[in-house]
Amino acid sequence: MLSNPYFKKLKPSYLFKEISEKLCMFKNNNPARTVVDLSLGNTTYPIEKELSEHLASVAYKQSSKNGYLGYGPENGSATLRSKVAKTFYRSTISPDDIFISDGIKCDLGRLQSLLGPGRIVALQDPVYPAYRDVSIIGGAAEVISVPCREENDFFPDIRSLSRIPDVLFLCSPNNPTGTVLNRKQLTSIVNYALENEVLIVFDTAYSLFIADESLPKSIFEIPGAEKCAIEFGSFSKTFGFTGLRLGWSVVPSQLQYSDGAFVQHHWRRVVSTLFNGASSVIQEAGIKALEAYSPQNNAALQYYKTNANLLKDALLSVGFSVFGGDHSPYLWVKLPKELASVDPFDFFLEEYGVAVTPGVGFGSEGEGFVRFSSFGDRSEVELACQRFASREIFVPSGAL
Ligand code: PLP
Repeated sequence: MLSNPYFKKLKPSYLFKEISEKLCMFKNNNPARTVVDLSLGNTTYPIEKELSEHLASVAYKQSSKNGYLGYGPENGSATLRSKVAKTFYRSTISPDDIFISDGIKCDLGRLQSLLGPGRIVALQDPVYPAYRDVSIIGGAAEVISVPCREENDFFPDIRSLSRIPDVLFLCSPNNPTGTVLNRKQLTSIVNYALENEVLIVFDTAYSLFIADESLPKSIFEIPGAEKCAIEFGSFSKTFGFTGLRLGWSVVPSQLQYSDGAFVQHHWRRVVSTLFNGASSVIQEAGIKALEAYSPQNNAALQYYKTNANLLKDALLSVGFSVFGGDHSPYLWVKLPKELASVDPFDFFLEEYGVAVTPGVGFGSEGEGFVRFSSFGDRSEVELACQRFASREIFVPSGAL
């Protein structure tokens, strides 16, 4: 039996295993200490009762002749596609260019069938690790990194690369840095992609966190993007659908390969071959969630935003350098140089009883940083803030 040869190129995820082992050991050795886990991007805020009742009623109707839903259209319910177009794109995108999915990660997997093996893929560094692994499993010829550093406002300067990639993954607001590409920055990347025939894969998992109207929530706010980009969106983080699973892709009808073939035709083929559409019941819940939607009445979104603000204020007040958090659920925190020799995970755990994700888990440019997630429970976030407020940055004597 032959294995997929690309698996040999995958780097084992020692770091995350190590984190959970260390966390477990710490809890066993310190049973009296309450550990606040802010390392995870998993949601904690339950969906609205009205929504869960609707979900239950649609599920219940599956046993009745009239309510039963069989296979739906592969590209998703027309009602949901229209609602997505209206809610997230102010109807500037045609519902025909929208494909409802079971979430971004699943679309990233299907994307590999669209791209085929042998591509040169460019990724931001630090980066959401799934882009790297999915590209390697899909047979990318090479994965190159675009460094995103503090001195460059974490901007991926694609023009600094010595080679032109076939595909560029972009995530804004970014996981892990929490930074958002502004209109000028995104325009310059779109222009580069148009000049060099690069396909941009734009991930908007956190776009609803953007509060400033001048910042783009979609790559399609940038002229020309319809000729070089596809976009992935998700109900996970802002509607609490992490477990229910619902998302979408936008593949513009104008987007063409160099040989003139239409990307949307290929994507439709991929979706109809590898996927029979998102769960009809969950799509009905998605329709309900978008009824009369506004960011102000999205309780989960407001909850996580408040968590992020509390954490950011607490960390800033005791002297940490904090990036992100304003238009993002993630805070990217720089460790002072006096702590250069200290393991950042151990430092936050031992000194504050708070678990965070070490920046190196997202790429070598993450060295010296940690990521805080605001998806935790409010009482835990408040406990973490109290602990930070209880003293200025603690520098162990051995580290100086
Ligand atoms: N994209 C980014 C940047 C993420 O951080 C995550 C989850 O953490 C996802 C996508 C996954 O989204 P979904 O739940 O829609 O698969």
